[in-house]
Amino acid sequence: MGDSMAEGRVYLSSPTMHGDEQRFVKEAFDTNWIAPLGPNVNGFEKEIQEYVGVGHAAALSAGTAAIHLALVLLGVGPGDTVFCSDLTFSATVNPVTYVGARQVLIDAERDSFNMDPASLRKAFEIFGRPKAVIVANLYGTPAKLDEIKRICDEYDTPLIEDAAESIGSLYKGKQTGTFGDIGIFSFNGNKIITTSGGGMLVSDHEEYVNRARFLSTQARENERFYEHKVIGYNYRMSNILAGIGRGQLLHLDEHIRLKKKIYERYKAGFADIAEIEMNPIPDDCRPNYWLSCMTIQKECKVKPLDIILALEKANIESRHIWKPMHMQPVFSKIDFVTADGKVWKGEDFEGSDENGCSNGKCKDISVGADIFRRGLCLPSDIKNTDEIMEEIIGIVRSFFAK
Ligand SMILES: *Cc1c(COP(=O)(O)O)cnc(C)c1O
Repeated sequence: MGDSMAEGRVYLSSPTMHGDEQRFVKEAFDTNWIAPLGPNVNGFEKEIQEYVGVGHAAALSAGTAAIHLALVLLGVGPGDTVFCSDLTFSATVNPVTYVGARQVLIDAERDSFNMDPASLRKAFEIFGRPKAVIVANLYGTPAKLDEIKRICDEYDTPLIEDAAESIGSLYKGKQTGTFGDIGIFSFNGNKIITTSGGGMLVSDHEEYVNRARFLSTQARENERFYEHKVIGYNYRMSNILAGIGRGQLLHLDEHIRLKKKIYERYKAGFADIAEIEMNPIPDDCRPNYWLSCMTIQKECKVKPLDIILALEKANIESRHIWKPMHMQPVFSKIDFVTADGKVWKGEDFEGSDENGCSNGKCKDISVGADIFRRGLCLPSDIKNTDEIMEEIIGIVRSFFAK
């Protein structure tokens, strides 16, 4: 999170270790499996496979590496197009640039903050078939995965599910990460379970996962000498970190339970404040509640930054909702599709204020920009005590006191 683990500071979401992690790591030391292969790597893959109910899994050095390899596996290359969630962390879309392809960004919907199926359909109608679609499940809440998958199938286009934030979440009773042709998870330090850094690529297609393992270990052919027919990567997870992951996975359900309590505590704490809305949870899913987020009513004078700064003063970490990719300077020229079927370019937003307006005309009417401008992520660390939760709720409430 950029900050060191300073005493007394309240974090957005910091690692929570239990002791089981050290047991697996000690085993790795005792048997000298200090390598990007070994029993913890195999064990972690198998245990994730079983937990999420997917055919195959490859443990990798990061979630970003997993998305990169997913694109390589699907043959995405220079000149290709990939439709991507717009309201997300940059790691969802950066790998598209790594392979020389071009993103088309798809607006969000308000029910889950994730990719809007109507905008996705528009993108297919306007741009034709892309090489792949990448959908992210933000803050642990699943996207409308059925609808998105159906549209992709209609156009015979593979779907990559970025479940970096949503491991353990259910959509219509099925684990996230299993809806796409390829799914990815992240075990970065701030995620609901962590290996300090790491990721996983999962799929029911064995050939994808075998190929991912091959490519992630430098694409070395099965020869006595080092033989390479394609470009490889050094993306495998180490046996030490996989040990941390095995220990963490034993506590995923417990983490979800505690994260849910945090969400419900905030919801109850703000129930009487009309200006505050918690991030929506659709009926057909059971999120992992990774981060609790709130939005402030449009007409309200209070802005997310006011609350973020007040919490910061009390040494409490919070942050803005992900800034949509179409608003990022680095993607200023990238096409962006909103549900009204409009295609926007970066230049369309140039010179507009924080409300997307300039010269009395409001340019950016996207849902993602609106959620970003009105939203913030509240401290969601499962180690936070009742006392700390009360303090946070009190600080937020003070802005809305009648
Ligand atoms: C964390 C995250 C990633 C990247 O995962 P790393 O393991 O940090 O590389 C990708 N997508 C989303 C939505 C994320 O939150």
